[in-house]
Amino acid sequence: MPELPEVEITARRLGAALRGAEIESTLAPGINALKTFDPPLHALDGLAVVGVRRIGKHLVVDVAGDLHVLVHLMSAGRLQLYDKRASLRDRTSRLLIRTTDGRELRLREFGTKQAAWVKVLRNGDLEAEEHVATLGPEAWPDPPEDLRPLLDVPRPLHSVLRDQRVIAGIGRSWVDEILWEARLSPFKRGDDLDDEEAAELRRAIVGVLDGAIEHYERVVQLPIPDKLPLPLKVHRHQGEPCPRCGTTIEPVHYEDYVMCYCPHEQTGDKVLKDRRLSRLLK
Ligand SMILES: [Zn+2]
Repeated sequence: MPELPEVEITARRLGAALRGAEIESTLAPGINALKTFDPPLHALDGLAVVGVRRIGKHLVVDVAGDLHVLVHLMSAGRLQLYDKRASLRDRTSRLLIRTTDGRELRLREFGTKQAAWVKVLRNGDLEAEEHVATLGPEAWPDPPEDLRPLLDVPRPLHSVLRDQRVIAGIGRSWVDEILWEARLSPFKRGDDLDDEEAAELRRAIVGVLDGAIEHYERVVQLPIPDKLPLPLKVHRHQGEPCPRCGTTIEPVHYEDYVMCYCPHEQTGDKVLKDRRLSRLLK
């Protein structure tokens, strides 16, 4: 979190509101967030915002003069647009871009980790940036027609679908929803998909991400809320009935997240071993 749908709605809302706005000044109070020094952040001062777009799970603020602000929100960042300037005591602030009309675009990050990052890049350097250059094809709106060559690796689907170098945009929340929608086991291997399963998976990827973005179009407004209302049916719903068949949704616990699935429809009624429990019992 945030994944492709959350970043997409953020880019749409910010782009519509900021296009043409002139940048007055910039500030990086989160000393660790800014990862580049040439061009300097102040190179943006006096320039107009051309637009805001999404690449994978990254946000790009395009600025006149062929400059780009590449932002990765990581797990707890938000890019939010406010009508007023923040108090500099706001400890969640990592980057501030102030416009001449008095508004402020803020990269904020919640929690204790400082992981969200920003790079100011020239044209050409954006495409070559290490995270951007290594991205797989976008999961939405039009992933490759045949997913089999892409996923042809001996790795479980729940892991390979979250690998941004394989396919860009999907993370822990939406992978559970997609696999549930496709009625596929999270532990089925990528190289073990038949034609029909691959086609079903592609339909599920497009359909689930489409549905999430449509939902956000209805409910998400500026400044962009701290907590986005994720319309999840399966992920984090362990112990609740499957919305389709009523079977109890089962969890698999990992160190810092939980994977959820419907055993009846996804794993042939097999309840997968909970890794946390089996480790405790060893
Ligand atoms: Zn079910």
